[in-house]
Amino acid sequence: MKENGTLTPSEVLCIVCPLGCRIGVEERDGKFSFRGGCARGKSYAEQELTHPCRILATTVRIRKGEIPRLPVRTSRPFPKERIFDLMEFLRSFEVEAPVRRGEVLARNLLGTGIDLIATRTTHRQERGEEGSGEV
Ligand code: SF4
Repeated sequence: MKENGTLTPSEVLCIVCPLGCRIGVEERDGKFSFRGGCARGKSYAEQELTHPCRILATTVRIRKGEIPRLPVRTSRPFPKERIFDLMEFLRSFEVEAPVRRGEVLARNLLGTGIDLIATRTTHRQERGEEGSGEV
């Protein structure tokens, strides 16, 4: 049983590498032990059970860009329970072109120490040819 009252799953599907191992889980006195998988997989399974995180890949609004929405991602896996808060923040977030792929657009998102990174280079559009800003 986890802290939030939900049942602990009997196995975790590891997504760290393409092998996709199933790692068996046993819980005793609040401590987990794992069957199968490598060390990285066991560490992933432990995090998945105690503090699940995900890389968030989405788009944000860009002004004066050649495209209306700029593809972005978080620099590291972001706490899953705060992803809705992050999406809410990104809804009003806006950058201005030009932007280079890999550029840090925002630091320390919601105080997590995780940054927002551009995943595409976008040039500045000439006046009058700007993207609409629509999704
Ligand atoms: S347990 Fe290890 S080998 Fe299996 S999917 Fe995870 S990282 Fe890959």
